[in-house]
Amino acid sequence: MATRGDAMGRHDRGLGSVLSELQSYGARVERGVGGRRSGAGPADAGMIWVEDTPVTFPFTAEYVTDSPFVLREGDDGWELLRDGQRVAAATVPPRPRIYDLQTADGVPYWQIALLHLDSLASTVIQTCMHWGTDDQCTFCGIELSLEAGATIPVKRPEQLAEVAVAARDLDGAVDVTLTTGTTRGADKGALYLGRCARAIKEASGLPVQAQFEPPDDLGVLETVKRMGVDVVGMHVESFDEDVLARVAPPKARTGIDGYFRAWERAVEVFGKGQVSTYVILGMGEDPDTTVDACKRAVDIGVYPFVVPLRPVPGSLMDGWLPPEPEYVESLYRRIGPYVVSRGVGSWNVTAGCARCQACSALSAFEETGDDVAARQLPVLQAD
Ligand code: SF4
Repeated sequence: MATRGDAMGRHDRGLGSVLSELQSYGARVERGVGGRRSGAGPADAGMIWVEDTPVTFPFTAEYVTDSPFVLREGDDGWELLRDGQRVAAATVPPRPRIYDLQTADGVPYWQIALLHLDSLASTVIQTCMHWGTDDQCTFCGIELSLEAGATIPVKRPEQLAEVAVAARDLDGAVDVTLTTGTTRGADKGALYLGRCARAIKEASGLPVQAQFEPPDDLGVLETVKRMGVDVVGMHVESFDEDVLARVAPPKARTGIDGYFRAWERAVEVFGKGQVSTYVILGMGEDPDTTVDACKRAVDIGVYPFVVPLRPVPGSLMDGWLPPEPEYVESLYRRIGPYVVSRGVGSWNVTAGCARCQACSALSAFEETGDDVAARQLPVLQAD
């Protein structure tokens, strides 16, 4: 059976190339790997380590049946196979222990927050003012997990604090990622995230990333910093204005310059590299425009968290395919070294998606030296 990636014939796959392929093609899994199927974060995502690198990958979408990758449990533990040949050892995390706990008032912890490898993540407000309107972002699945009964609409600060302490103590969580749908207030939900961050920090001491849309009053950024937020994500999603207008009308109205204004202020408040944006590849964007704007963001101290589109089942992009990995890798190769040269690499980020890096392979291209991203996997087979 022909599989995606057959035409490549590359035998020199370093870690970066394997991760890029895995994130675009996904992997068939021979038996139970923890993951999640919908929501605002990494949906349809298996979560593992390949060698020692964290990675999320599609594993339930229909297109995964054409993937050359299989993840299976062999005699010496989990392994990743490509076209039937072992390419890397894998580590599959055990089911988080916090998933067996519930709050005193009977809410299961897994409805409050999920463990993404070593990061505790929660969509604090699981509704968005744009959902179900012509403004709904086409790639987004924020209310799908609510409709599926997998979560609760609003997580309270004390609930998040309780889960964060347990995740730190029982499952080794090292940070907390908070996101939200866009609310009707001028702060776009940022202040509620700030209240949650304060409760989490006081209880657990874990660093917190908060992700929200640029507030109308950028002074809100100083307020949430005082409340305990360490890192901020304000996500433009695409630097191509035509694409943005098509896939995310509310973000297009903020405008790319609007994001830059917010990021500049945020970098003043949170520091260089502690501000990030998602940049989704594979929605029809112009690659040169994308690379130029990523560099412009890096120049002001913003980390561009470049990820391949992972179409969320049930979203308006259900049925799309992730971009070809060669395309994604070609942009990683142009952006990664630039990030390094400006000193805003992922290693500096204190918390959140850009610290974890599992949804992107960009950090594999941040290595310095002549052979960027060509670190060979130690168990790569020759034939
Ligand atoms: S603004 Fe767009 S991406 Fe954000 S939660 Fe709403 S619909 Fe989803």
